[in-house]
Amino acid sequence: MEHKNSTSLLSDPFRFNKTAGYEGLFGLISHEFFHAWNVKRLHDPVLGPFDYSGENYTKLLWFHEGVTDYMDDLIGMKAGVIPWSTEAKEWAKRWTENGERPGRAEQSLEEASFDAWIRFYKPSEFTPNSTVDYYEAGALVGLMMDAQIRVGSKGAKSMEDLFAMLWQRHGEKGLTDADIRKAYQELSGLDPEPFWNAHIRHSGPLDPSAIEAAFGLKFETKAPWESLPPEDLKDAALARFSKSYVGLEFGTAPDASTIKNVIPGSPAFEAGLSYGQEILAVNGWRTTLGTEVQQRIADVPVNGKVEFTVADCGRVKTISVPVVENPKRIFRILPDPMATDEQKAMFTKWTGQAFPPQSALAPKSRSVKP
Ligand SMILES: [Zn+2]
Repeated sequence: MEHKNSTSLLSDPFRFNKTAGYEGLFGLISHEFFHAWNVKRLHDPVLGPFDYSGENYTKLLWFHEGVTDYMDDLIGMKAGVIPWSTEAKEWAKRWTENGERPGRAEQSLEEASFDAWIRFYKPSEFTPNSTVDYYEAGALVGLMMDAQIRVGSKGAKSMEDLFAMLWQRHGEKGLTDADIRKAYQELSGLDPEPFWNAHIRHSGPLDPSAIEAAFGLKFETKAPWESLPPEDLKDAALARFSKSYVGLEFGTAPDASTIKNVIPGSPAFEAGLSYGQEILAVNGWRTTLGTEVQQRIADVPVNGKVEFTVADCGRVKTISVPVVENPKRIFRILPDPMATDEQKAMFTKWTGQAFPPQSALAPKSRSVKP
């Protein structure tokens, strides 16, 4: 938790056993350190001094938390502690997760910021389908903004200049959305309205074009069955496992075969399956774990049907659901083989690291930051 002149951090004492643990802790430390500016000093006036008698509403958590999340990654790279390969995987994973989260089309980053008091810290069964994560999506919007500023200023300005400009102009006096838009416009030379309408006030799909153009990168998308390791790609059964889809998501034990989420618009959703129902059997075979349910679904090829035996508030019923091709797409961020010297130089100025060689990347996990 960030404070004005200090911070309080919690960490697993064994996380140094793995590189990812060390890098995750560094990300947390640099995130809280950057908060000394973004949110503790440079801040929406409502975020301090606080009125502790009630909620303190702000529309700027996407900037104060999300863009801090972006900056903590950037600081790690520029400090030479986090390699580009780690961030490329991390950002691709977030880009994928954000695209897969149904709620991202239902809630804007402004709304997610404003409703943090009643929704972000009080998750419910509706959370994945009705909300966007202002940390994750805010960080990706920060990445897009930084790329746009760098392209617009021909490499002369960056997100770092945006923070410096805001700090010089507003210091601790208080920051508004209009102040951020004005600084973005001056540094990038772009009209901020289309970007704000697409990504802050509404929830348009993320656009990697400025990132690709600035740094000589390519955002590649693949279906889950195309993203398997090369040795697994040859296994027809494994490839089919990744193809069959009905739109069900499960949690972990002890209620593991109880539905945790149903993707809106998916075959399971259209058939009437919903949160909290327990899948007792699939095609007559008893299931007690979500992974078993998913495996039995995978046994049925695309265009087939699965029959679920479902316990719903004590009543047992049978629901038939068509199997369709998995619509999920997985992103990877790769160096563009056609990258120009100018783009490679901008990449190095951005990350403090050499332009990467062509290589395969896979997702990894990340930690939670307050
Ligand atoms: Zn934070």
